[in-house]
Amino acid sequence: MELTMGLKEENLKEAVLWEPSSGEDKKIQCKLCNHRCTIDDGKLGRCCVRKNIDGVLYSLTYDKVCSANPDPIEKKPLFHFQPGTSSFSVATMGCNFRCEFCQNWQISQAAIERGRINGEPITPEQIVEGAVRNRCKSIAYTYTEPTVFIELCNDCGRLGKERGLTNVFVSNGYMTTEAIDFAANWLDGINVDLKAFNEDYYKRLCKARLQPVLDTISYIAKQTNIWLEITTLLVPGENDSDD
Ligand code: SF4
Repeated sequence: MELTMGLKEENLKEAVLWEPSSGEDKKIQCKLCNHRCTIDDGKLGRCCVRKNIDGVLYSLTYDKVCSANPDPIEKKPLFHFQPGTSSFSVATMGCNFRCEFCQNWQISQAAIERGRINGEPITPEQIVEGAVRNRCKSIAYTYTEPTVFIELCNDCGRLGKERGLTNVFVSNGYMTTEAIDFAANWLDGINVDLKAFNEDYYKRLCKARLQPVLDTISYIAKQTNIWLEITTLLVPGENDSDD
């Protein structure tokens, strides 16, 4: 079920991982992903779901959940993390990439292209309860980019831990090391979509850069206990070859 909601500012959640931009009145910098947007008062970050209101950064999607349902963990895909179990899969709208081949563009790009954020006000308590009721072993933050709704992930993740659930991200890997450290206490597994080994591909098709994704993969593998799997989606003619 989908419920259209406007951007009522009284329901917003103050964002994590931002700081005032030095010397600029009410201008701030978001430190959540490697775009590291500098955002003027009243403006949105590149993901279009985080807004500077009077010098404070807010998440616009915290109480607008657009997907919440059980799925096999292999469908995330994670093939070596709690195999054979179900994962309660949650998303809100928005993404920090603009991949031309996105399979979930209706929910990942709507905020960017149409300024629309749809979703239901499902609380972290209800999400955890839904996971337990559906006999899931984990909560997956997926379908769109979980980094840009990390406040909801954080609250669900901590509550879920108390009920014996694990937490997994399906991510483009563009989060900062600050974001990884922020999540490290409750994030148990991650699948990073390494879209190609080519800067031009990232720039042209995703409006992003390859190197931060490689840095994220290296940081998670070497500096954290988070289970890591990597997936590459083949886009015929773009990142495959006959060889
Ligand atoms: S999460 Fe959004 S606002 Fe923050 S740096 Fe990334 S694109 Fe910009």
